[in-house]
Amino acid sequence: MEPFYSIFFKCPECYHQVEQHAKADDNSFEAYYEENVPRLVANTIIGNTIYCPNCGDRFTIAIDTNATTVPLYLRRG
Ligand SMILES: [Zn+2]
Repeated sequence: MEPFYSIFFKCPECYHQVEQHAKADDNSFEAYYEENVPRLVANTIIGNTIYCPNCGDRFTIAIDTNATTVPLYLRRG
C-alpha cells in the first residue's frame, strides 16, 4: 500500500468529519487536522474538491486566510 497522509476536515454544513488523502513523500502514515497541516502537505491538496459523504455537499480545499493565528517571522531588512 502506498503511504499517504490523512487530513481531516470538519464539514462546514453538517460537521461530519471528512477525510482527504495526500500523497506521502516518506514511508509514514501521518494524520493531520485542518488547523495544523504542514505547508508541503497542504500544497498537494489545495484546490482539490472534496465531498461530504454525510450531507453530499461539495467543497474546495482552501487556505483559511481568516485563521485566528498565523505564523510570523522576522525578515532581514
Ligand atoms: Zn456534510
